[in-house]
Amino acid sequence: MIHEFAHKLDMLRDGANGAPPIHPDMRPGEWHDIFSAAWNRLKNDLHTHQPLPIDGYSLTNLAEFFAVCSETFFEAPKNMKEHMPEVYRLLCQFYRQQP
Ligand SMILES: [Zn+2]
Repeated sequence: MIHEFAHKLDMLRDGANGAPPIHPDMRPGEWHDIFSAAWNRLKNDLHTHQPLPIDGYSLTNLAEFFAVCSETFFEAPKNMKEHMPEVYRLLCQFYRQQP
C-alpha cells in the first residue's frame, strides 16, 4: 500500500518518474543528485553481485525506485538509514517524519 501511495504522490508532477513535487524548503537539485547517485550505486551492486539494501525490483525504473525506497523507508527504516543514509534523510524531509 505504501508503494502504491508513493506512485500516486509521484504522479502529481510530470507523471511517475521518481520526482514527486517536493516541499518549498527542499532543493530539487539535491533530490535529483542523491536519488541518481543511489540508483547508480544499486545498479553497480547488482552488476557486481553485491547484496542489495532494498528490493531489486526498484531498479525497474526511477518511478519504481522511488516507490520501493518509500516502502523501505517506512517498513525497514533502520536498514535504509544504515545503507542509504542520504536517501533516508531526504525521505524524512519529504514525508515529514523520522521512522
Ligand atoms: Zn510500483
